[in-house]
Amino acid sequence: MELRILGCSGGEADGERLTGLLVNGCVAIDAGSITAALSVDEQVLIQHVFLSHSHLDHICTLPFFTKNIFGRTHEAVEIHALPETLDALRRHLFNDELWPDFSVIPSPNDPTIRYTEIQDEQTYDVCGLQITPIRVNHLVPCVGYKVDDGKNAFIFTSDTAETDRIWEVANATPNLRMIITEASFPNEQAWLAEASKHLTPARLGAELQKLRPRIPVRVYHLTPGDRATMLPQLLALHDDRISLLAQDERLSW
Ligand SMILES: [Zn+2]
Ligand SMILES: [Zn+2]
Repeated sequence: MELRILGCSGGEADGERLTGLLVNGCVAIDAGSITAALSVDEQVLIQHVFLSHSHLDHICTLPFFTKNIFGRTHEAVEIHALPETLDALRRHLFNDELWPDFSVIPSPNDPTIRYTEIQDEQTYDVCGLQITPIRVNHLVPCVGYKVDDGKNAFIFTSDTAETDRIWEVANATPNLRMIITEASFPNEQAWLAEASKHLTPARLGAELQKLRPRIPVRVYHLTPGDRATMLPQLLALHDDRISLLAQDERLSW
């Protein structure tokens, strides 16, 4: 499995890209950076996009992606997401006001993108991967994903406050190679993390008590202006599983 980190909403402030992963060149998970990180030739190879939730930092390049691939693909790109997420896309983004409705362009029978509803804990087989959404705890309906090619697996929790199920799934995945999870605000802003359903370093530390040992934990979604405050707070957890995820990083198993 080839995993490419297109953006991780928490790199250096300059040139910061928003959340998105690319698996085996053909499956995008979240769409915060597709058009910022990939050439058009690479974008055309994406056949499936799995969205975790509707927040802009996870979907904002979808409009430009649809325009870039328009007329250059044989099949519609499938946009997989929870019904509530697809509803938000239809009502607020691809509504002909903010962007043309590419789910009926060039025609309803031959569109550029096709919406596919997902359900948590169903497994979807695409591009040789088994992709399983797992419900997490965020301000809007949100899923993380387990991605498994039969030999190796990783889990992306997406944005979440305290949650249990995804850690249970992680502990029941023997071939798990990595968890990608979030820390969004410094410990001093626990109130803001609570209100927006995110984690602080201290709360991440408590969450990781639920995860079995020796699984690398890669952290994303730090607020760029708060990195200097948050890095010592992450180090203070004294958990050697933890390191930061990096934009443009490529991993393979
Ligand atoms: Zn969010
Ligand atoms: Zn986010």
